[in-house]
Amino acid sequence: MPNVTEFFGTNVFNESVMKERLPAETFELVQRAIHNNKRLDLATAAIVANAMKDWAIEKGATHYTHWFQPMTGVTAEKHDSFICPKKDGNIIMDFSGKELVQGETDASSFPSGGLRATFEARGYTAWDPTSFAFLKEGVLCIPTAFCSYSGEALDKKTPLLRSMEAINKQALRVLKLFGNEDVTAVKTTVGPEQEYFLIDKDVYLARKDLVYTGRTLFGAMPPKGQELDDHYFGTIKSRVKAFMTEVDTELWKLGVTSKTEHNEAAPAQHELAPVFATANIAVDHNQITMELLQRIAKKHDLICLLHEKPFEGVNGSGKHDNWSISTSTGVNLLNPGETPYENAQFLLFLCAVIKAADEYQDLLRISIASAANDHRLGALEAPPAIVSMFLGDELSEILEAIKKDEPYGVKEKETLKVGVHVLPKFPKDTTDRNRTAPLAFTGNKFEFRMLGSSDSVSEPNVVLNTAVAESLRLFADELEAAEDFNTALHDLIRKTVEKHDRIIFNGNCYDEAWVKEAAARGLSNLETTPDALPHLLDKKNVELFATHKIYTENELKSRLEILLENYCHILNIEAKTMADMARKDILPAVSRYIVDLAEAVSVGNVIGEDLRDSFEAVTAKELTALKATAFGELTLLEKATAKAKEIEASAERAVYYKNSVIPVMEALRKTVDTMETLTCEDYWPMPNYGELLFGVM
Ligand code: ADP
Ligand code: MG
Repeated sequence: MPNVTEFFGTNVFNESVMKERLPAETFELVQRAIHNNKRLDLATAAIVANAMKDWAIEKGATHYTHWFQPMTGVTAEKHDSFICPKKDGNIIMDFSGKELVQGETDASSFPSGGLRATFEARGYTAWDPTSFAFLKEGVLCIPTAFCSYSGEALDKKTPLLRSMEAINKQALRVLKLFGNEDVTAVKTTVGPEQEYFLIDKDVYLARKDLVYTGRTLFGAMPPKGQELDDHYFGTIKSRVKAFMTEVDTELWKLGVTSKTEHNEAAPAQHELAPVFATANIAVDHNQITMELLQRIAKKHDLICLLHEKPFEGVNGSGKHDNWSISTSTGVNLLNPGETPYENAQFLLFLCAVIKAADEYQDLLRISIASAANDHRLGALEAPPAIVSMFLGDELSEILEAIKKDEPYGVKEKETLKVGVHVLPKFPKDTTDRNRTAPLAFTGNKFEFRMLGSSDSVSEPNVVLNTAVAESLRLFADELEAAEDFNTALHDLIRKTVEKHDRIIFNGNCYDEAWVKEAAARGLSNLETTPDALPHLLDKKNVELFATHKIYTENELKSRLEILLENYCHILNIEAKTMADMARKDILPAVSRYIVDLAEAVSVGNVIGEDLRDSFEAVTAKELTALKATAFGELTLLEKATAKAKEIEASAERAVYYKNSVIPVMEALRKTVDTMETLTCEDYWPMPNYGELLFGVM
């Protein structure tokens, strides 16, 4: 392989390219835009656009696109070529500042949740200069935000940028109180760990459920699953290795810092983690990563499944969102530091996260809610739907000592005073033992572990940023007004811990007992997506987003509508796919097998052999009974699906799918899976779990 340092970022219009190609003062202005959130004027944008175009054309590009992230969850692009006709019949290649900064797109087919009136189908894309432009398949991609004519957010990037601005503003207020005059900006950093499955393409294509829904709707477990733990961190198979090598190479060219790759717990499951980056860049990079994983897999005759629960009986896939806050001077605010002063500041930021997680548990839950993720949460493989925080024993004891104004540890004789005492270090290995916690402190960052593998990581970070910004806003208000900063700080931390420590739980979140305890603590437990979503419009949540100018109430309503509709669409497709497979493939196959078994029995009768209790007769009888049950369930499923379609209101329809469609789907699956275990493989109309999970060599 060529030297990675030489080709890393070669497809990115990054700072070093800009430095080389832009006039010094233009480069300076772009730097300010990137690092200090300053706006670029149109004249500067024109210079940048021209340099960008020349660079892209030199690398073989003919088109550019405003690359954006509509509410569909995947990225969107509309390609425009650089060509500009001249009067003499020739063309020049042109790209103006205006074309770089703003795009207009017919957005009528993107979900808007009713935000965009039908007469106003235009949507606008606006350049995000903080995320570098890049070249993908010969197209210059410009990361943009996407909004309506009247400025309402129609995408996943706009709110993220707004939330980053909100936490920047409030954190700067707090940092000033600690005397950090040199800090000019605060940014959140994100490192998403991406899980996925890789299966053989031919096997995939032979399964309607995978093709239409991304997950298996039927499938009996093979004799072996993940019980031996022999896949986790195991040797990577050569076909998978070749795939990963290509993924890394392409990601590196795009400046994505792909770092760690390993096999995961389930057979055919893998993980890829990058080195963390600024939140909006990390979100963009994760979208690129998901796209490349899927595209490159096909080149290797593989299919990358990003679905949260492609297979029942083995673990599903999630995405750990590692999140922290750092300053323009390079300080990680969730790193305890070495001195009492740094420790006090750390404790305050820690309290901001504790308060945020407790007050906006529901929003954190909503931010990761989807039909697919409902299969994982609470299924003893991922954190439950209850949001709680893990801090580790040491840190929890410190907070307890502060709360009770008690001495801490063996060495301390006097009570622990914020801003006076030095805290012990919290090495990662003492803070990271608990893998069951939804939100875990891991030494110098939080790891939010409820995310689904296929979702954009934007929304969870919007909620984290905004909820923490709100804590910091209230902290700053209080501390700015205080007469004695240190006393006020100490009291504030003590008060916050006292009020919000119910959210801290260091035990096993997969334990049944925790569900009861959480209820006793008054923590919210929104088990499914239809339970969770409507809380988006709870008064406190509307107020939070309005205060920090993240979402207007209208934007929230539109998002809720999109999320509910999406949930219903997914269930409708799944139910219809299931019915199709049962009616057209599975029941006919079982029927054929029964006929053949019965024929064997009658042949026995003819030749005088008594086959009444034989394998053939018993199996035929069992399958006949199961077939009747399955047919009954199929009929119920078809009726329930038709009825769901008639329900007008999306919230009500979502609840109907949850209560009346999903249970029938589960029952039908159970019957079919039992039939599969009894049916001769030659008759079964699709590849089985064994081939799906163990088929890639
Ligand atoms: P694991 O969770 O598998 O043990 P690590 O904890 O080492 O792995 O890292 C997981 C992810 O956390 C990586 O993507 C890493 O870059 C990211 N990370 C590390 N520090 C930070 C930080 N300050 N902010 C955000 N993400 C971080
Ligand atoms: Mg992790």
